[in-house]
Amino acid sequence: MSLMLNGMGVSRGVTIAPVYILRRNQPDIVEKNLTGKKVTAEIRRFKSAHAAAKKQLQKVSEVIPEDAPDDVSAFIETHLLMLEDSMLASSPVEIIKQNNCNAEWALKLQRDKVTAVFESMDDPYIATRRDDVNHVFNRVLDALASVSRKRPTEDAQSWRDHIVIADDLTPADTVLMQTHGVAGFITEMGGPLSHTAILARSLNIPAVVGLRDARRYLKSGETIIVDGESGLVLAEPVEQAIEHFRKRQREMRRKVRELTKLTDAKAVAASGEKITLLANIEIEDDIKLLRKVRADGVGLYRTEFLYMHRDDIPDEEEHYKTYMRVMRALNGAPLTVRTVDLGADKEAESVSTGPLAHNPAMGLRGIRLCLSDPSLFVPQLRAILRASAKGPIKLMYPMLTNVPELLQAMQILESVKDSLRSKGFKFNEKLPVGGMIEVPAAAISAHLFAKHLDFLSIGTNDLIQYTLAIDRIDDQVNYLYDPLHPAVLTLIKQVIEAGQKAEIPVTMCGEMAGNSDYTRLLLGLGLRDFSMPPNSLLEVKSILLKTDVGAARRPALSFLGCTEKERQQHLLAKLNS
Ligand code: PEP
Ligand code: MG
Repeated sequence: MSLMLNGMGVSRGVTIAPVYILRRNQPDIVEKNLTGKKVTAEIRRFKSAHAAAKKQLQKVSEVIPEDAPDDVSAFIETHLLMLEDSMLASSPVEIIKQNNCNAEWALKLQRDKVTAVFESMDDPYIATRRDDVNHVFNRVLDALASVSRKRPTEDAQSWRDHIVIADDLTPADTVLMQTHGVAGFITEMGGPLSHTAILARSLNIPAVVGLRDARRYLKSGETIIVDGESGLVLAEPVEQAIEHFRKRQREMRRKVRELTKLTDAKAVAASGEKITLLANIEIEDDIKLLRKVRADGVGLYRTEFLYMHRDDIPDEEEHYKTYMRVMRALNGAPLTVRTVDLGADKEAESVSTGPLAHNPAMGLRGIRLCLSDPSLFVPQLRAILRASAKGPIKLMYPMLTNVPELLQAMQILESVKDSLRSKGFKFNEKLPVGGMIEVPAAAISAHLFAKHLDFLSIGTNDLIQYTLAIDRIDDQVNYLYDPLHPAVLTLIKQVIEAGQKAEIPVTMCGEMAGNSDYTRLLLGLGLRDFSMPPNSLLEVKSILLKTDVGAARRPALSFLGCTEKERQQHLLAKLNS
């Protein structure tokens, strides 16, 4: 009999393929030598991981059913006691201090010492306690790994033509997925705005996230069906189900063929307004997709991906050469380079975002990270400026929170310009500089930012996350995700109006811009520049070609006071009819 599971569909497309279960091994532990302040930071990192491991165990002990055998709670109690013992709570700290080493290495040294003692005991029962010691040490190591989200790449060759199922995937993993030709993926965690989901959409990989216990119910090698739109996963499908989904695949392909006919149509609304349709890119190769749909240029280049899957960070020359290649491929169309937005769910092995943050999404990320570490920021600024001598490149700062932060970034940019001038480098003195408006504080004060910038770009992914206080990668709060929330729409309208008043363009580059359900609504709110994953562009164009922008204004404004889900859906259906 078929087994039906439901998660959250985040990347459209139906796929029918065998399962590959991804189980992560403990990463190799290597010794790193630290200096000065880094040792103190490492101790803090260890302590945070230790606290996280303890919290996990306490949570487990709280949910043990009352009728469970006593052994179960005794087992958890033992692990908690081991965790609290000085062998795990304080000795690793001493080792970090004495050896100036990383926390993982200190734990490894300590684990080897403790397990050796257990192994040397004659009593066979005590000797088996060694396994418990290992479990507890591994729990702290896991907590350290999730702090830095560093993952081994595993045997990626076996992913080809399979549906990969994992607890969670990093954006870096997702990029690998495309390179290795996966048929689709399912994660047990994650939400629709996680970068993993965004990448799946832009890489055209059908994907379902937040499917709890997927690895328990699905077996490696069995053929399953994944519907990346509805979030449905079907195991052991009967022949009729396979036929039904094959039909859906054919229909989707037919729709894509229909949309392809609009490739050369000008992006002009039925009422005559010229609309700019830009593309978001993550990797250089995305330019091919962008050219296929004839986007007006790149509205967001997420340069973080240049930093992933490597041990070092790209230097100025690498940045410069990359931007030059992308510009050449764009053939005169504008390229908006966002300065690196690492942190939160986008981690790179070579860039430290500091000790474990309790809320990484609210921590050292984006412009904050760059301002805290000029060695990360300056080479990229130099490269963008140098490339600006050769073509229409724009610079954009992510995650701005207050104007002084922007002014600090501008000051660094000015000193980089001085330094380039003194060395005889040419660059565009009027390099357009924009800021992403994705923190509610920045949206509310967008008019103040607009005074210092050449353009604004609304990042709805983060704006929704921060406005609604929902972690974009936490599947437990997915249900609160709501781009139609009046607070979100009010902020969007406010930013658009701030741009209009300051007479500077406002683009939207969050996922909302690529969802054709919202195209008319956004046009009604005054948006004229959209940037989105290339594969959404023709669908959005198909809507705007049929839209009377003036007539959409009043219905769009009616969303601002609408709080009920059903009414919102009714208004949306009416606006889009
Ligand atoms: C956004 O937040 O809307 C955005 C475009 O940036 P990112 O998704 O990379 O955070
Ligand atoms: Mg963002």
